[in-house]
Order: sequence, then structure tokens, then C-alpha cells
Amino acid sequence: MEFYKRTHTKKVNIGGVTIGGGSPVAIQSMTNTNSRDWKTTVKQIRQLEEAGCEIIRVSLPDMESACNVSKIKKHIKIPLVADIHFDYRIALEALKQGIDKLRINPGNIGSKDKVEILVKEAKKAHIPIRIGVNAGSLKEAHNCLDNLSRAKALANAAMEHVKILEKHKFEDIVVSLKTSNIDTTVRAYKIFASRRNYPLHLGITEAGSMFSGTIKSAAGLGIMLYDGIGDTLRVSLTADPVEEVKMAYSLLQSMELRSCGVEIVSCPTCSRCQVDLIKIVSEVEKKTSVMKNLKKLSKPIKIAIMGCIVNGPGEAKDADFGIAGGKDVGILFKNGEIVGKVKPNKWIQKIISMIKSYQDLQG
Ligand code: SF4
Repeated sequence: MEFYKRTHTKKVNIGGVTIGGGSPVAIQSMTNTNSRDWKTTVKQIRQLEEAGCEIIRVSLPDMESACNVSKIKKHIKIPLVADIHFDYRIALEALKQGIDKLRINPGNIGSKDKVEILVKEAKKAHIPIRIGVNAGSLKEAHNCLDNLSRAKALANAAMEHVKILEKHKFEDIVVSLKTSNIDTTVRAYKIFASRRNYPLHLGITEAGSMFSGTIKSAAGLGIMLYDGIGDTLRVSLTADPVEEVKMAYSLLQSMELRSCGVEIVSCPTCSRCQVDLIKIVSEVEKKTSVMKNLKKLSKPIKIAIMGCIVNGPGEAKDADFGIAGGKDVGILFKNGEIVGKVKPNKWIQKIISMIKSYQDLQG
């Protein structure tokens, strides 16, 4: 898909993961465990790593949780980001403990001099800072009556903090401007992107439950990504954070911004369909979601699972391979050509074995 051009942004290194400057859009999530309990937090981070999360953020509400940073880091492989509100001293402790990035909230981190102390320490440690503006905690945004004014207030708040960092020649900056309203969020990111080229962390905050939050996030993030905006993202769902990672991969894969694993093309079924396609597709999806190393494939494997032979292979001609339903049989096709037959009770097995052989071919 070549119809959008990624906005040029500065490269920022977060504990070995580069964001910006044309790097692949990195997938982030956030733990929802009690970060004072480092063992449980590590357990969740490992599940997120397994799901393909590339950067993980933990909220550090107090000194006790900040003192856990080095312990958590010892047991995980991906970069760890500290989410700090209200008290800059927690951020200082996180830096001492070896955090990979700080996220501060201009709406509540306190006075300019506290931010300046933090910037000096982050600069010494070569640790990037995300200025994470959030409409919910920015009083200037509450007073705005329309989306555009709110978007401007968010972008201005981010700029105010960016300038403090720039004054100290600190440029390892990432910015986010999140609200729960798509129009306001998109406008805020666009305003900021027209002013500075720091990498942008995208998100529609408080997007909602797994179902409605997924749709809202896909709509909002999709608009920005289509316009070339966004270097890393977090999908916010009121759900297990592993679901956020799965949704992020699915979104980026559908926009051809990341090649990750298996892409399933399946038809909506109609009266021609003579197999239980819904069950087959959901089984294949479940099985492939736990297959190891699929996300590391250089090229995604596109498989088609179609209800009938009349339109199936033709509708799915871009797929690497697929199966289309017939009466008591499945027609196996590769690149739009029929190459064999498979009994209905062997479809899933056949699809999984073919994915494995494609995986082996890609090494
Ligand atoms: S592939 Fe066949 S079964 Fe599926 S929607 Fe098209 S015509 Fe109907």
C-alpha cells in the first residue's frame, strides 16, 4: 500500500527499539497489575512479550513502585517505560533504577523548575521523555467549547513542555496528544506534526471495551496512520492488555504498515456455503495466534478460507493459498489456481500444516 507517505520524524532510541525516522510503527501496551508487586507485573509483561509487544509502560504511582524498576527490568526483554504523574521525584528514582523512557503528563507534573530538574537528569542518563498530553488532565482543554479549540489547547500544552526540553538541548522527545474523541485527537496530532518533527506516540485514550474500543481505536488511529502520522502506538482497551497488542498488529497489518504473521481472508458466507466457515475461521485464527515466531516472518502469509468454489479462488486470488468449500469437499488452491482437494474435517489441519511449510520456507 503506497498511498500515504510517512511524515518524516526524528529517530529516538528507547532501550534498543528505535521509533521515528521511518522505523516500523512500534507496538506498545501498558500493564494493569499493581506495580508495587513486581513479580505479578513481570508475569504480565512476559505474556505481552509473547504476544509481540515491543515497548511496555508501567504506571509508577509512588516511590515503592519506582524502586521496583530494576527488579522488573532484570526479568524482561523489552524496553520499560515509566508513567509518571504528580511527583517528579518518582521519575528521578525511575531514572536511577535504569528505566528506558519516561512519560510525563504536562497537566499534572508541576512547575517548570521541576520539569527542568528532570530534563537535566534524563539528559545525563540519555533517556528519552514522552510528553504525554491527555485531555482528561489538562484544565485548558476542559474550558474549550469545540474540538478545534480543544485540539489547539492540547498541542499548545505539548509545545510549552517541548520548549522547556529544547531549552536544555534535549531532543530525545516523543509526544502524544490523546483524547477520547477522534476528531479532537486527530486535529491535535496534525497541529503538533506541523510544528515539530519529534516522533508521535498515537492513541485514542479511554476508547472503551474490547469491542467498541477496538472499533474506535481503529477508526482514529487509521485516519492518522493513513495521513502518515504516527511512529508508535498503544491501543487503549478496557480489557486484558494482550488484546491491545493483538489489535495493534491487526490494524498495522491491515494497513500494510507491518508484516506480521498470518493474514486471513475469509468470505462473509451466503447461501452457496456448505461448510461451517465461521467455526473453521475462528479455529484457524485461534491456532495461529499462539504459533511461535509467526510475527518474525519477513512477509506475511495470506490465506483464504472461502465458502464456495464458485467465487472463492477468484475472490482470493492474492492469497498465497486457500481452501474453498464445495459439497463434502474443500478445494485447495494456490495463487488462484486449483491444486487439490481436502475433506471438510481436515481443513484446519491442512491449513496449519501449510502455514508451517511456508514458515519453514521463509526460514
Ligand atoms: S465465496 Fe461463495 S460462499 Fe462465500 S460469499 Fe462468496 S459466493 Fe458466498
